[in-house]
Formats: sequence, structure tokens, C-alpha cells
Amino acid sequence: MEIAIIAHDGKKADMVQFLNKNKHILTKEHIKIIATGTTGSKAESAGFKVKKMLSGPLGGDAQIAARVAEGKTKMVLFFKDPMSNHPHEVDINMLIRVCDVHNVPLATNEATAQLLLLGLDEIK
Ligand code: PGA
Repeated sequence: MEIAIIAHDGKKADMVQFLNKNKHILTKEHIKIIATGTTGSKAESAGFKVKKMLSGPLGGDAQIAARVAEGKTKMVLFFKDPMSNHPHEVDINMLIRVCDVHNVPLATNEATAQLLLLGLDEIK
């Protein structure tokens, strides 16, 4: 089960806290975490095993979208920062659209991410 994590700069600390809080779920053997570059580095520093894509602004969100489209990534936990502008907004919107096209669970805030993780076993 491949899960993608992405956090905008203003949300990276929240993401690390979230990962630690859910360590018992995220370190299960069948869970594989992928991430945009910088988010992945933060997760690694916190002790998680992560496959890193490019940094978001360099195409990391687009790479994750491609994996969603290919059926590889089954869940996306995206801590968006609604209070800042992003040069790669089109990539972010593309990722959201691709998740909708393929009916892949996508959280864009921490509360939803928590609910998705709690429902992980419902996802095929
Ligand atoms: P980052 O990318 O993890 O490389 O910072 C996240 C994003 O801005 O989409």
C-alpha cells in the first residue's frame, strides 16, 4: 500500500508531528511512504523510510500524480498551506484532479488525513 505525503513549507512541522503520532500505522510492513523531496527529507530525519520524488516546485507533485494515475499510489496526504502562494499551483491542481479521476483518497488538511489513515484498512 503506497501512501504519498506532501507538506507545504508552512505545514512541514505539522506533518512531522502527524507522522510521529501515527507511527504505529505508518511503519506497518505493507505500508510504503513516498513524498515530495523536502517533505521526504523531513520524514527521514524523523526516522521514517521514504521514497523521495523531486521537490514539489520542481515536479514532485506531478510525479506523485503520475503514480496515482498508474495505480501505484493508493492514498495522498497533502498538508496544503492555504495562506501562501505556490509557483507550482498548476501541478497541485493537477494532482487533485488526478486523484478525483481515479477515485484515490486525498486529504488536503490534517484532520482529513487522520480520518483517512484510520480508514486505511477499507482501501483495496
Ligand atoms: P517539498 O514539496 O516537499 O519538496 O517542499 C512540497 C510542495 O510544495 O508541493
